[in-house]
Amino acid sequence: MAEATIFSQIIERKIPANIVYEDDIALAFEDINPQAPVHLLIIPKQPIATVNDIQAADCESVGHLYLVAAKIAQQQGFAEDGYRLVMNCNEHGGQTVYHIHLHLLAGKAMGWPPY
Ligand code: 5GP
Repeated sequence: MAEATIFSQIIERKIPANIVYEDDIALAFEDINPQAPVHLLIIPKQPIATVNDIQAADCESVGHLYLVAAKIAQQQGFAEDGYRLVMNCNEHGGQTVYHIHLHLLAGKAMGWPPY
């Protein structure tokens, strides 16, 4: 079981966040420091520290994050223009919160490479 992070507190409504989607498995909310016109974080309610910690039993909840991303993209009207999904892992990946989260970035054309 992953350590509780600030994201656990957002799930439990102990700290505020602009929540845009919730179901039994996942929560999506606006990033506090947006890097694009739309910058959402989509997280599993069951905490997993990093991508390295994903187990076979987590596949449904991790896969579900992508379904949520696509649903939000349709609902918010940027599915056709496109968007970027990123999950950072550990220090070299730029991970700072150790509860896996899918960054959903949209609202402008993204550059590549991402550094
Ligand atoms: P990472 O660097 O781990 O891939 O991404 C962590 C993200 O969480 C960052 O984009 C950061 O801005 C966001 N973040 C950190 N603390 C909070 C918070 O308390 N509330 C919200 N909404 N986002 C946060």
